[in-house]
Amino acid sequence: MLKINNLTIEFGSGDSKVIAVDDVSIEVDRGASLGIVGESGSGKSLTALSIIQLLPPQAKLTSGKIIFDKVDLTKLVKNQIREYRGNRISMIFQEPMTALNPVIKCGKQVAEIIILHQKLSKKEAKKKVLELFNKVNLPRPENIYRSYPHQLSGGQKQRIMIAMAIANKPDLLIADEPTTALDVTVQKEIISLLNNLRKDYNMGLIFISHDLGVISEVADQVVVMYKGSIVESGNIKN
Ligand code: ADP
Ligand code: MG
Repeated sequence: MLKINNLTIEFGSGDSKVIAVDDVSIEVDRGASLGIVGESGSGKSLTALSIIQLLPPQAKLTSGKIIFDKVDLTKLVKNQIREYRGNRISMIFQEPMTALNPVIKCGKQVAEIIILHQKLSKKEAKKKVLELFNKVNLPRPENIYRSYPHQLSGGQKQRIMIAMAIANKPDLLIADEPTTALDVTVQKEIISLLNNLRKDYNMGLIFISHDLGVISEVADQVVVMYKGSIVESGNIKN
């Protein structure tokens, strides 16, 4: 379903040139789970962000193809990539507040994502959001719907992000260190939630972490990145 071939991402030029992602190739099938592990600065996030064209503006994609369902995503213009992002391909991050708007109630934020990609009335969208909140095991969905992000715990905010990410039943979910900021118990719950959702929706999952232990609980396949390159890859038997 997703095939990245020879991806290279650079910053700067001349003497100050940094090759942040160096000739990386990965593949993820529908329903499969790929783990990307590596120390901080090894190029994991940039690899992920390149898929949905969210690289920082200074980053230059100097080579590579990102084929998703037969389309090279690197060739798409802004309007075209929006049809994929948040719809067929979603992403969740380590820090939920980077994606949540602090001044809009949680329910409304998720409803907006649904309305953006599906022709639903506000009422229908709300019903759908409450279903999603149940699906991601948020307690008292009606209360959460009316809450602002700061009124929720870290784990609850991450569940809101996951609800948002799966709202349009994506084919591919990219999770970039989604549990790193959470305590161990909550981390385990989120991992088991992601595993269940992957099976339910038959989604491909890219799970990024600096922690091989965490990766081994979600991924069937793993690649190890070091200084921008893939230095090892293999299967994980769960
Ligand atoms: P990881 O997610 O593995 O921690 P990143 O993909 O975020 O690593 O970054 C990889 C490398 O790319 C960094 O070590 C840094 O050298 C470079 N880099 C990332 N973002 C920027 C930026 N905005 N400007 C300059 N260099 C950057
Ligand atoms: Mg990162």
